[in-house]
Amino acid sequence: MSSHTHPTETFATRLARVEDAIAAACRRADRPRESVRLMAVSKMHPASAMAEAVAAGITLFGENRVQEFLHKSQELPPLGVTNAEVHLIGHLQSNKSAKAAEIFSAIDTLDSLHLAQRLENAAAELNKTLPVVVEIKLSDETAKTGLHPAGGELRELLDRLPDLPHLKLRGLMTIAPLTQDDAVTRACFQSLHRLQDALASAYPHLDFSELSMGMSGDFEIAIEEGSTCVRIGTALFGPREARP
Ligand SMILES: *Cc1c(COP(=O)(O)O)cnc(C)c1O
Repeated sequence: MSSHTHPTETFATRLARVEDAIAAACRRADRPRESVRLMAVSKMHPASAMAEAVAAGITLFGENRVQEFLHKSQELPPLGVTNAEVHLIGHLQSNKSAKAAEIFSAIDTLDSLHLAQRLENAAAELNKTLPVVVEIKLSDETAKTGLHPAGGELRELLDRLPDLPHLKLRGLMTIAPLTQDDAVTRACFQSLHRLQDALASAYPHLDFSELSMGMSGDFEIAIEEGSTCVRIGTALFGPREARP
């Protein structure tokens, strides 16, 4: 679907268009609509935009910076938003892991053993179980973060997870390369799906059911290839202003 949006459109109008496209992709893939969650990526949009999204029926958000969401999280309750599920989908520096474990419902960008250890300590301190998704780097050009699918650190992390009882693995996520070539995008999503199958049989005691893949420009392909969570920003909120 085209990610072009018009400034005068309401969130509800954009949401209806995204929902139509999700439903159509689910039909093509012969999947039930409920098998895909819609995550609204609200980064660089104000808390008021999140409140508008909640009013339109959004229950799950993605934010990519700890500091940014820390501010917004304080603005949400006065806007009537008290129970939104918000996941971190941006790279997490380990010195911010304690704050991240505190303010986010889940960390979807776990990308090192060191970070896992820091998050475990933070979650233990908070006396909570923190859902995590492991980020996989499948394209060399664009993705700067994520664990290599064939690397030793991914295996080491999965081997160590039983020793990190406050982290609850939920699955895998990836960011497709920036390309106009749908075949390249599709191949990336297929790789993540194959990795999910391989890891699920190699680690039967771990949960790999979440396959977080697909953004505004490629979520329909992602759904066709098995995505269980599409992370959509621009197609829902309109274009983001450049960071100052
Ligand atoms: C910004 C971002 C998105 C949403 O991107 P859009 O193209 O605006 O839909 C999804 N996933 C991650 C990890 C992001 O950083």
